[in-house]
Amino acid sequence: MSEQDFRPVSAFDSPRFAGVATFMRLPHVPLEKSDGVDIGLIGVPWDGGTTNRPGPRHGPRQIRDMSAMIRTYHHMLKIAPFEIINAADLGDTPVNPIDLLDGIKRIETYYHKVVAQGITPMTAGGDHTISLPILRAVGAKEPVAMIHFDAHSDLNDAYFGGNKITHGTPFRRAIEEGVLNPEKTIQIGLRGSVVDFEDRKFGEQHGVRMMDIEEAAALGPDKVMEEARALVGDDPVYVSFDIDCLDPAFAPGTGTPEIGGFTTREAQFMLRGLRGLNIIGADVVEVSPPFDPSGYTALAGANMMFELICVMAEKIAARKS
Ligand code: MN
Ligand code: MN
Repeated sequence: MSEQDFRPVSAFDSPRFAGVATFMRLPHVPLEKSDGVDIGLIGVPWDGGTTNRPGPRHGPRQIRDMSAMIRTYHHMLKIAPFEIINAADLGDTPVNPIDLLDGIKRIETYYHKVVAQGITPMTAGGDHTISLPILRAVGAKEPVAMIHFDAHSDLNDAYFGGNKITHGTPFRRAIEEGVLNPEKTIQIGLRGSVVDFEDRKFGEQHGVRMMDIEEAAALGPDKVMEEARALVGDDPVYVSFDIDCLDPAFAPGTGTPEIGGFTTREAQFMLRGLRGLNIIGADVVEVSPPFDPSGYTALAGANMMFELICVMAEKIAARKS
């Protein structure tokens, strides 16, 4: 155990608008010095795989800023995550804004180190492409299960004549590469007009459970998560939260908004349904500050991260004791 104090700066000692912005006001601890860290909060300031409206490269900064609003205790779960495990802001991964494949390589190299250090990564993106290099690291030994909240399946094959690495293709690549188990993958909140049904066909052929928003709305958050928990069981599971699963009324700051989405409250209720699962990493992606100067999309993202950190911390603390 290191000498580092892993608790966030208290708002009773220093007001929330003061100081250098880190995720949840946690200490900034570079990966090389992260001995003793259980959950690493990591920014990936990169949107080189965006096919339409860019901006998530600015996500980590604004999420750090808005995450100063997050307090210590979860009022429903009765969990104070930063009291029961060690969390730190590990900073941002190396990126390359002018070379897509090199950018992906840098991100992947970083996450292999995170996994080797035994740290559970809680990532703030970045566009959704970044889930692929993360899955390559967390799924290197065996393909992982996934609970995926998104308006889009991100199971497309290629864009613009054979480009296979984009934010519309990460999970198809992850399945092909054997780092993601399609039969233990559930996608929740799919909706919107589509180019064709090819992504849907790929998902169904490989056994991905694709749940449209209409079905999720009819079931309600508790039943949706009952099914998700039953599907993944005790398997190591990755949780990927695309902010566009929320309705644009709640999260306008994203590149590919789709109307008719979840409320922030429904999303919070669903994330609480992850309690007890063996989560080996999570991300919140596609927060695009240029489309939302109010910062409320980033605030929603920060709060989703807090929900995720609470359920991950409870499980890690139980494993350690
Ligand atoms: Mn999406
Ligand atoms: Mn997505």
